[in-house]
Amino acid sequence: MSTKYVLAIDQGTTSSRAIVFTHEGTIHSVGQLEHDQIFPRAGWVEHNPEQIWNNVREAVGLALTRGNLTHADLAAVGITNQRETAVVWDKTTGKPVYNAIVWQDTRTQKIVDELAGDEGLEKYKSRVGLPLATYFSGPKVTWILDNVEGAREAAERGDLLFGNTDTWVLWNMTGGTDGGVHITDVTNASRTMLMNIDTLTWNEDIAADMRIPMSMLPEIRSSSEVYGHGRKRGMVPDVPIAGILGDQQAATFGQACFEKGSAKNTYGTGNFMLLNTGTEPVASKNGLLTTVCYKIGDAPQVYALEGSIAVTGSLVQWLRDNLGLFEEAPDIEYYANKVEDNGGAYFVPAFSGLFAPHWRSDARGALVGLTRFVNKNHIARAALEATAFQTREVLDAMNADSGVDLTELRVDGGMVANELLMQFQADILDVDVIRPEVAETTALGAAYAAGIAVGFWDGEADVTANWREGKRWSPSMESDERERQYRLWKKAVTKTLDWVD
Ligand code: ADP
Repeated sequence: MSTKYVLAIDQGTTSSRAIVFTHEGTIHSVGQLEHDQIFPRAGWVEHNPEQIWNNVREAVGLALTRGNLTHADLAAVGITNQRETAVVWDKTTGKPVYNAIVWQDTRTQKIVDELAGDEGLEKYKSRVGLPLATYFSGPKVTWILDNVEGAREAAERGDLLFGNTDTWVLWNMTGGTDGGVHITDVTNASRTMLMNIDTLTWNEDIAADMRIPMSMLPEIRSSSEVYGHGRKRGMVPDVPIAGILGDQQAATFGQACFEKGSAKNTYGTGNFMLLNTGTEPVASKNGLLTTVCYKIGDAPQVYALEGSIAVTGSLVQWLRDNLGLFEEAPDIEYYANKVEDNGGAYFVPAFSGLFAPHWRSDARGALVGLTRFVNKNHIARAALEATAFQTREVLDAMNADSGVDLTELRVDGGMVANELLMQFQADILDVDVIRPEVAETTALGAAYAAGIAVGFWDGEADVTANWREGKRWSPSMESDERERQYRLWKKAVTKTLDWVD
């Protein structure tokens, strides 16, 4: 084979990364640029789609230059992305009509409540696998059409396109206004609230309820097939773009969770645990989402149960940026290590309400159990512990839904560099926590999906063969102590509920 590499583009919440992978699944070179987090009002979170597209191009250029490569060395490109974040743009000018509304944004609360009406938040759940929540894309599109001057008329004329950032990047890479393809994959589509979870087609009734013209919606394809080729303007000319997976599904793929019952947990801006449930969708009774895990070409789709937690790593950012407690995110470990425990403080970061397993958009954050004794170090520790406690809530829900107790958990994402957190996580879950050698599993998963489509890798067996354990943390906490702390955490959660008037 003349081409030796696959490029993955990871369009994440905080940054866009381009990573070149070898056939062994190791990293050859990386380019990365952060984009602005725009907070126009309380509860609103936006990104500038043009800045994102420019950053993606620059990141790809950096990765190729640093790796001493050109596009001709690439067998394929895969895309993975922050899910649910909604971009609406004009197909004739290529310009977004509004900033991207980010998954954490809660401005659609009123639209969501109106959609729920008397039938409640589970109105669409049997069809799309999701409860009504501000998290998902559909109502964000409704908001843009309702609030941006001229947008609804343009959409009804057929001039506007919607996509998550995978679709936005793919459309631009494949030519934009000059023939760009308007496509998404089944995993991203499963986060819009608009896709039938069983047939993987758009649900016209729900789109009508949300007043979204069908002409705006991208074509739904599998996660691993050739969607189009790079064009000069979008770089990587003639290279097949052959894989798309939403970031959490990509990480599940990159962690080689192909067996029914295998699970991974990603610790990034938020936390996302996905459990592979095989080729049939499983409805949750415990506050988890039913989602598409992946679909390789014509093979049957594989489903997952997902526990989504809105705020984990972003609490670390908040302590850094809003309170100025430290300079860099990893510094939190230094402060947390200065104390033996949380000093009685529990921090429930319900900044965007509470996601799984609660789904309470009326919740807001709380720091409870405070006394004069509590200092900055205890707060740093409580913030890290919040990630582990929220993960325990999700794992309990997974065990209850699946009827099988997980015996170990594969982890990845920016926060898993934090040793204190990983040990505490093993302690609070009472299972082994395992970090793979290549922790960039999100980008890796997208690379595998693309490489499999073009025959660079043969299939899942190659991914499994390439997966190697990096580090393992085993539980060492007494069970009485574990349950005492978890009980206090649950009590702290009750203090955050019913806060929004
Ligand atoms: P995303 O893909 O969601 O953009 P990443 O996986 O890159 O996120 O992880 C970045 C997040 O991890 C940030 O929210 C940051 O605050 C947090 N983070 C990074 N390093 C550490 C660390 N050593 N300890 C705790 N949190 C960290």
